[in-house]
Amino acid sequence: MHEFNLIQQYFTWDNPPKDISIAVGDDAAVLDLPFDLAQRKQLVTSIDTLISGVHFPENSSPRAIAHKALAVNLSDLAAMGAEPKWFTLALTLPTIDEEWLEEFSAGLKSLALQHQCFLIGGDTTRGPLSISIQVMGFVDQGRALLRSGAKVGDKLYVSGTLGDASAGLQNIQGQLTLAKDDAVFCQHKLNFPTPRLLESKKIKTIANACIDVSDGLLQDLSHILKSSKVGATLDLSGLPFSPVLRKLEHQQALQLAFSGDDYELLFTVPETKEALLLEELEGKVTCIGYITKECGNIISEIGKELSATGYNHFNDN
Ligand code: ADP
Ligand code: MG
Repeated sequence: MHEFNLIQQYFTWDNPPKDISIAVGDDAAVLDLPFDLAQRKQLVTSIDTLISGVHFPENSSPRAIAHKALAVNLSDLAAMGAEPKWFTLALTLPTIDEEWLEEFSAGLKSLALQHQCFLIGGDTTRGPLSISIQVMGFVDQGRALLRSGAKVGDKLYVSGTLGDASAGLQNIQGQLTLAKDDAVFCQHKLNFPTPRLLESKKIKTIANACIDVSDGLLQDLSHILKSSKVGATLDLSGLPFSPVLRKLEHQQALQLAFSGDDYELLFTVPETKEALLLEELEGKVTCIGYITKECGNIISEIGKELSATGYNHFNDN
């Protein structure tokens, strides 16, 4: 199969939205921007690369790889309070395997169309399997949710549950033994993270600061704290855990929550807006602490200092 046919067959989607003049098939994409002066918008863009053997096991299903590659990017837009619009895909493939491509493109399209995020172009090369996706979306002028907006006294919230994906990974790696159904649940959380775009839509006018939890709770929290020049007290006994993690020792569940790959939103909310938040998202978000003035410092509810560790690609230890 020739590269052009591959692009035509798997990555040229029908019925593009009307703001796309030219998508896949020319030298570049041409897009209409929402330049409505009464409602000024800003473009928000982010890119993430997934490399086989680093970000997913070599034998992962193509559907899972596609889902995760797009989901982690959509999660970044969610963390900015942005609404996704378009994405590009740079795909490096060792061989042309049509069955693999069929599944990959189906997984990609399914998540993309669920969030009205359309594939507008990309690049296809030969080499070790790697997927780079760049997403583009919009926020209202000046309304992007930043890491730097947390204020002393804000409550700290997280969406969903923490640590499930890491439990799934440790189970695959043989470091943790889960019962069969529990392993299926955790591996699903690892392979098919849900970008929290619905939650993002609700919190974007409520939260002061936001980040997505990709590298572990403490590490990502410390990014908010450093950017905002504040500290936090974390209620470790009140972290949201799934029924599967609640079966483990609490210490072990905590370590999993500190390990990453959750793609939940971690955000701060002024006390005056807490009721509004819970009106919108009761049961979907959990208060896990509050913001203090000690810059960069994270302490537990019993006064224990917590260090910001998490996943670091350049750390060999
Ligand atoms: P060029 O040689 O001009 O870079 P390409 O052959 O790389 O052209 O791409 C041709 C068209 O196909 C372009 O519109 C490009 O955006 C699109 N394209 C290439 N690879 C992909 C891909 N993996 N997914 C989506 N679109 C792609
Ligand atoms: Mg090209």
